[in-house]
Amino acid sequence: MATLFISDLHLESDRPDITAQFLKFLKEEAAGAEALYILGDLFESWIGDDDPDPEKRRVVLALRQLTKSGVPCYFMHGNRDFLLGARFARDTGCTPLADGTVVTIEGQKVLLLHGDLLCIDDHSYQRLRRIVRNPLVQLLFRQLPLQPRLAITDKVRAGSRRHTGRTAGEIMDVNDGAVAAMMKARSVDLLLHGHTHRPTSPSIVVEGRPAKRIVLGDWDKQGSVLRWDRNGYELKSLPRD
Ligand code: MN
Repeated sequence: MATLFISDLHLESDRPDITAQFLKFLKEEAAGAEALYILGDLFESWIGDDDPDPEKRRVVLALRQLTKSGVPCYFMHGNRDFLLGARFARDTGCTPLADGTVVTIEGQKVLLLHGDLLCIDDHSYQRLRRIVRNPLVQLLFRQLPLQPRLAITDKVRAGSRRHTGRTAGEIMDVNDGAVAAMMKARSVDLLLHGHTHRPTSPSIVVEGRPAKRIVLGDWDKQGSVLRWDRNGYELKSLPRD
């Protein structure tokens, strides 16, 4: 049985094609998996676990069905859905995973990250990250009624679109030094992350030892999954019907 890793689905009501593919993936592939790991940005935005949006409820129910059938599911916050909270975890039966968790799969240690922490050259993004991840800011945001929360989120998303539109690609990519430092600090020679939407698996050198960084793809044009069983791992794209 394979352990599955996905990230960056960016589910939203404007993209029913992605949601449909994800629900099918849960039913047909994840249902027979050893475990499912979602490494951030499952949702394009998440304004709180009390959001009654029917599309989001459908996804919550589908995840609950998966975990109820006995498949463990883990989720990590992305930069879009970092407000996924305790109620989401309870409703889905999924286990929250801290950004930067080391797990052992098929006897091999792997560091799991969403990936935005590695993009240290993007100073204005890292500044925004510190603000929105501040527990006090989040506490205040959660106190607001649904409508202003939606309005603020739309504003931040528009700002982020402007920013990615005018910022060079390499600035928004991971910093090689940050990758090496993080892998050294956590004593791993395998790193798996998403966020950059650049599926790839370059061989690298960390502390003079051969190492590997695997980047999951996003689900905009097609799905992307890393399947890992006793024969090894494989990064695959999933064509959309
Ligand atoms: Mn992201």
